[in-house]
Amino acid sequence: MSTPARPANRHHRRPRGEGQWALGYREPLNKNEENKKNDDGLNVRQRIIDIYSKGGFDSIDPADLRGRFRWFGLYTQRKPGIDGGKTAILPDEELDDRYFMLRVRIDGGQLSLEQLRTIADISNDYGRGTADVTDRQNIQLHWIEIESVPDIWRRLEAVGLSTTEACGDTPRVILGCPLAGIDAGEVIDGTPQIHEIYDRYVGDKAFSNLPRKFKTAISGCTAHCTVHEINDVAFVGVVNEQGEPGFDVWVGGGLSTNPMFAQRLGAFVRPDQVHEVWAGVTGIFRDYGYRRLRHRARIKFLVNDWGAEKFRQVLETEYLRYALPDGPAPEAPQSGRRDHVGVHPQRDGNFYVGFAPRVGRLDGDTLHRIADIAERHGSARIRTTVEQKMVILDVAPDQVESIVSELEAADLQVNPSTFRRQTMACTGIEYCKIAIVETKATASALIDELERRLPDFAEPLTINVNGCPNSCARIQVADIGLKGQLVANDKGEQVEGFQVHLGGSIGLNPTFGRKVRGLKTTAEELPDYVERVARNFEKQRNEGETFAE
Ligand code: SF4
Repeated sequence: MSTPARPANRHHRRPRGEGQWALGYREPLNKNEENKKNDDGLNVRQRIIDIYSKGGFDSIDPADLRGRFRWFGLYTQRKPGIDGGKTAILPDEELDDRYFMLRVRIDGGQLSLEQLRTIADISNDYGRGTADVTDRQNIQLHWIEIESVPDIWRRLEAVGLSTTEACGDTPRVILGCPLAGIDAGEVIDGTPQIHEIYDRYVGDKAFSNLPRKFKTAISGCTAHCTVHEINDVAFVGVVNEQGEPGFDVWVGGGLSTNPMFAQRLGAFVRPDQVHEVWAGVTGIFRDYGYRRLRHRARIKFLVNDWGAEKFRQVLETEYLRYALPDGPAPEAPQSGRRDHVGVHPQRDGNFYVGFAPRVGRLDGDTLHRIADIAERHGSARIRTTVEQKMVILDVAPDQVESIVSELEAADLQVNPSTFRRQTMACTGIEYCKIAIVETKATASALIDELERRLPDFAEPLTINVNGCPNSCARIQVADIGLKGQLVANDKGEQVEGFQVHLGGSIGLNPTFGRKVRGLKTTAEELPDYVERVARNFEKQRNEGETFAE
């Protein structure tokens, strides 16, 4: 694997030390940095195989358990029965269960039937049947014991999947359009670039110690379905003045605390240059990223301080050693909905069929069923989406009716209500140690209730349910973003509830939702609250107007 060029000079000094390696701050300034310096996260793999899987949970070094395990997609899950009020109080040892969440990275969201069946088998054999499709196209399993990890890796790797750098301060899964290569309107298919970056750099120690997590999206989809605005680096399909397809680079997007939208560098990147531009941007993050404070370590803070112009100049002069030409901005997205749900034509005359499981929650048997349904209808390709949905590709016209009815019979809805289609939920208190409230079951019950109360509601309305102030389910860019916290009920008791953010969006005019002061709801009152908002929106909406407008 190649190692990118190191910066040629050491300017760009910040007044105070932020732990930037390129400015000479190599000494770790916090515990995380110290752990990374002591031993690279990638080295934990061999210890898992040789020591921990044989010695069991109690043999695991705490620095590996709560640190380096993430480099292979492993997080301890939350001990059942601990309420959200204790999340911030209890030490990790008391919150940790002896089981793990295991994240399988699915770069580009691309799965063969064999890969899907392998995940299904692992889920059933080792994960008590759990399988959640995430909003970054991964599949997460729960209840994994350390003893089974080597066999899980063996099975995954035999079919070309991995958990390498699925979490941790690393280049995480690369998002891609589920319709790459088959969509009639796509500007360019980003699949070769996704594979190239994965093959060259994932698992490469040149990039395994970044200041924080690093999220990439590459897509030539006209619906802009990979949410490039909120990724650390994104390549968006464009056609330059000469009529050549390529990519427009964006850097510095991210939600969570201090949400920021990505900025365009204004440079045109040819398809064969994408991997080196990616390595340059990631190298800047590694070398100039702020390592002093974890909450200021994402690349967005650096981009925000430098601005796009300086970032591009450093990229070209210190990392690429050549100038990129200016390029056009992407066209406005052609579709208000980015999720690819429903039946739509491919460019080869076949159809793709996108369907909506409930808030991404699936199980091993259902994954098998999806593979069987796809195969019976002549398809060998499945895709995951960034909306916790799935898509089956390559369905012949005479198979469409049958596949739709088989999917719907499995509660995998191809024509879902707005509420089923546009509600997402993060993992929440069921498994997540940081969570304050329950999310998946709450969101699922909310969908049922809204479908019952508003059976004819057809407006677009995104509802994103998060279990804590982090933004795994993208609260700030939802029409209704719900941030889990404890709130007072009418008896003054602290109960599970949500702070409401209203009117967030991505797309043509991206905006972060407004945190309406004092606007909180208990989980119990959530259906009443959302029903009121939805009815008002329906009443006041002008033709073509979105919720954010
Ligand atoms: Fe856990 Fe919070 Fe992320 Fe939800 S948003 S998965 S509760 S960290």
